[in-house]
Amino acid sequence: MARKVVIAGNWKMNKTASEGKALVEALKETTKGICPNCADIIVCPPFTTLVSVIEAAKGSNIKVGAQNIHWADNGAFTGEIAGNMLKELGVEYVIIGHSERRQYFGETDETVNLRLKAALKNDLKPIVCIGELLEERESGATEKVLFTQLDGGLKDISAADMEKIILAYEPVWAIGTGKTATPDIAEETHKYIRSFLADKYGKEVADKIVIQYGGSMKAENAEALVGQADIDGGLIGGAALKADSFTALIENAIAGAKNK
Ligand code: PEP
Repeated sequence: MARKVVIAGNWKMNKTASEGKALVEALKETTKGICPNCADIIVCPPFTTLVSVIEAAKGSNIKVGAQNIHWADNGAFTGEIAGNMLKELGVEYVIIGHSERRQYFGETDETVNLRLKAALKNDLKPIVCIGELLEERESGATEKVLFTQLDGGLKDISAADMEKIILAYEPVWAIGTGKTATPDIAEETHKYIRSFLADKYGKEVADKIVIQYGGSMKAENAEALVGQADIDGGLIGGAALKADSFTALIENAIAGAKNK
């Protein structure tokens, strides 16, 4: 079945409010020719840049996501942001469980699950990240690691809610390193993730779920990666920080999807 291409740019801790506005103004020009039905284009700036980016994106096909969400509605959680705060700003998507959150900020499958439920409760579209470390891949533990992340992260999530979730498979060894999983390796892993979803939710639901690839995806490899049967787009770091590179990547990903 045909799933829509979804490309999300994770700006990480880059771009002030004015820099973010300028990038979106540029993206509005460079992505003008991309048909809205061919791909969903999302940018995920830092919290402080959300307002200027949402304002700049108005009237375009560029959608906006945050990079994290706390599970509580409010309260004594210094430095955290609640779902209703994002929703009120006009945020549509939220990245959850990025490997940098897991590595540097103690994110676990349990907290991923709590944040995911908060996103769904606030009608935000979650992009849930999973992926193995290099030593886990090298020791043959990739599927075991992904099983644990999916099992814990998606705990108590119904089939109806699952259909609102995007998964991003990001091998940690490929993030920001310039090392991309080959299209074959990425596809093999995406296939495994879809088989997990089919076991848990049935094939019909599994076939609807968008599974992005992330890890040094760029214009040069986007066509081959998204040309794979189970790869439906990308979560992009470095290549999302410039309008030209992000646009070329989106165009090539759409070309890849057309070759399926
Ligand atoms: C990411 O941060 O999610 C990512 C995939 O980064 P990069 O594209 O830079 O590897």
